[in-house]
Amino acid sequence: MAKESDVLRMAAEMALEYAASIDSRDATPTEAAIAALVEFDEPLPDGPTDPTEALTLLNRIGGPATMGSTGQKYFGFVNGATIPVALGASFIVNAWDQNAALPVMSPTAAKIQDVSSGWLIDLLRLPKQTDVAFVTGATVANASCLAAARDATLADVGWDVQRDGLFGAPEVNVVIGEMAHSTLRKSLGLVGLGRERVTVIPSDSQGRLRADLLPDLDGPIIVCAQAGEVNTGAFDPFDEIADWITERGGWMHVDAAFGLWALADPTRADLVRGLTRADSWATDGHKWLNVTYDCGIAFVRQAGALRRTFSAAAGYLPPEDGFEAAHNTPQSSQRARQVEVWSVLRALGRSGIADLVQRSCGAATAIADRLRGAGFDVLNDVVLNQVLVRLNDAATTERLIDAIQSDGRIWCGPTQWNGAPAMRISVSSWKTTIDDAVAAADIMVECAATMEDEK
Ligand SMILES: *Cc1c(COP(=O)(O)O)cnc(C)c1O
Repeated sequence: MAKESDVLRMAAEMALEYAASIDSRDATPTEAAIAALVEFDEPLPDGPTDPTEALTLLNRIGGPATMGSTGQKYFGFVNGATIPVALGASFIVNAWDQNAALPVMSPTAAKIQDVSSGWLIDLLRLPKQTDVAFVTGATVANASCLAAARDATLADVGWDVQRDGLFGAPEVNVVIGEMAHSTLRKSLGLVGLGRERVTVIPSDSQGRLRADLLPDLDGPIIVCAQAGEVNTGAFDPFDEIADWITERGGWMHVDAAFGLWALADPTRADLVRGLTRADSWATDGHKWLNVTYDCGIAFVRQAGALRRTFSAAAGYLPPEDGFEAAHNTPQSSQRARQVEVWSVLRALGRSGIADLVQRSCGAATAIADRLRGAGFDVLNDVVLNQVLVRLNDAATTERLIDAIQSDGRIWCGPTQWNGAPAMRISVSSWKTTIDDAVAAADIMVECAATMEDEK
């Protein structure tokens, strides 16, 4: 059997080799690589095997069948890649194997929680006392913020959700935009507010909530705004929404899964106007900040609100001692995902994060320009890192997406926009330069031309 150090050295070398290969490989694995995954279909071994065998199999069969989403040629969903310092920090934090649930379990995790929270609040110019909790992704960050919102708005009318649940509770008006992300409804369902029991406000042509259509409502209100519509990258009119909620009292939450990082870019002040007036914000680290999965971040303005919702009492738990992740998140035991976030903030600094945002947005604009020049319809105002396009009609657009995906060099996905298919291009990798973006757009144009020839 291999020694511990040999196992780890082998894994590190395989990871290095993978990272080094990403620039030259296609965004999509080959069909042969995907077909070879059947090699994993083996019976559970009866007993121990040399651990290097498992690693070798993983590297030989698993690696080639990955999507190249950590490279510069992947434009699907809003996925994000991994900055080397984040990958390195993740090696180290996994070697530490700390339980970040409580400071007593990991002084390092607790210190880095405090430092990274302070830096995020500073970078994003959020209110000083804001509580910052690391969770698994934006879906859970939204759910965490909405659970805190639910408990706070109902506490204001004398109802204790944690003690009594929601049966018989006063009604809470939940208001969302027509183009809210599908997972926002999942989060609402998860916290008992209901996926469909919501007031839906129509959106404008870019997918922004029409604040002028917000109705008059009585009683507890939670309004869910959005920074970064997944197709267009559009931001809701936060100032108008904040004015509306200030007049009535209530809680303003923002799903800012990727859009929150625009706050770090001083050139995007117009886009983010009013965003920091919210009561809570949910974002992802694993998308645009380019840290490893799975990392989401919940920000709640009202200090202690997360704790009211998520504290768990047990006899063996020590008395409160600084920020206790186990009592401020849905998780108890948890990995120290703040370490990767800290590493990126430490290595890039304020201007490096602003550059990251600007680079992606510049690349998106370059793609839009190139495609527009080639006769594609660019359907959105490219205000951020998202480009939404159609080629001629619905059928041609669908064929184009198929052609690009089977070409395999780059990857873009489909979406529906105004009831018809469109192609969505998201620039979320730190690696994608303007040159990469133009080269990718050239491939899209080439695929369209080849398709025409084949007709
Ligand atoms: C991706 C995304 C989510 C969900 O984030 P996960 O990290 O996948 O849980 C929610 N809202 C928006 C706007 C998103 O882009």
